[in-house]
Amino acid sequence: MTDCIFCKIARGEIPSRKVYEDEDIFAFHDVRPLTPVHFLIVPKLHVASLAECDMTHQAVLGKMMVLAGRLAREEGCGDGFRLIINTGRVGLQEVYHLHIHVLGGPDRLPPMLKR
Ligand code: AMP
Repeated sequence: MTDCIFCKIARGEIPSRKVYEDEDIFAFHDVRPLTPVHFLIVPKLHVASLAECDMTHQAVLGKMMVLAGRLAREEGCGDGFRLIINTGRVGLQEVYHLHIHVLGGPDRLPPMLKR
C-alpha cells in the first residue's frame, strides 16, 4: 500500500518519533497522545485491520504482543499499561493499517469504557 500513512511512516517517508524497529515491526509515538505514554506498534507488512488477519499473520501478531510488553516497560510503564486495537467502523478505527495502541501512566488510566 503505497499511500498508507503508516506504511510511509514505517518506510521513513513520513517523520515520526521512533520507539523501535526491526525487519517486521515499527513502533512510534502517537502524534496526538491520549496519555503520558502513548505509542503505536505496526507491522511493516500492510494489513488493514485485525479483522483481515488470518493464520498467516500469527507470527507477526505474536511478535507485536511480546514487544508491546517489553517496549511498555522500557518506556516507563513497569506498573502496568493498556493495549487497544480499534477495529473497523464499530471500533472507530481511523487509520486502516493494523496497529496496537500502548497506553500508560504514570497515574492510573481512566476506565476502559463508560458504563
Ligand atoms: P485509530 O483510531 O486506532 O485508527 O488510531 C489512529 C491513531 O494514529 C490516532 O491515535 C492518531 O493520533 C495516530 N496518528 C495519525 N497520524 C499519525 C502520525 N503521522 N504520526 C503518529 N500518529 C499518528
